[in-house]
Amino acid sequence: MDLDAFDHESHMREALDCAREAAARGDEPFGSVLVKDDEVVLTAGNRINSENDLRAHPELTLAKRAAAERDDADELVMYTSTEPCPMCAGGIDIAGLRAVVYSVSGERAAELHGTDPLLSSTAVFEAGRSDVRVIPDVLKAEGEKLHDAHR
Ligand SMILES: [Zn+2]
Repeated sequence: MDLDAFDHESHMREALDCAREAAARGDEPFGSVLVKDDEVVLTAGNRINSENDLRAHPELTLAKRAAAERDDADELVMYTSTEPCPMCAGGIDIAGLRAVVYSVSGERAAELHGTDPLLSSTAVFEAGRSDVRVIPDVLKAEGEKLHDAHR
């Protein structure tokens, strides 16, 4: 199915919901979903605090699950509330996902939090082995509110 025909805003709303659920349980406000053929198949929220695990970013959780539980990683599109960090982008590249759609860029998130930006996911994918397409800034204003509420 053509990625441009996917309902980007609907899937991003679900990722933003996962981020709000994470914040409600005391984790950082990040959430992601995996979509195949325009249907959500897996969801995850940040669990760094609740699992005391620095790897518990939703993007890495979903990349791991895609690789471990499924044989169609190259058909899966990740929708995520903020651009994946370099750790997660590396996992996404290794898992071989088809594309990443994000709301808030890493650069914008760093600006909102007054921190230095990390290496962009695009740079990681360009250096990696998979051809992961990136679609930025879907529901950006709504995504930015998550960061505004957690500064
Ligand atoms: Zn990450």
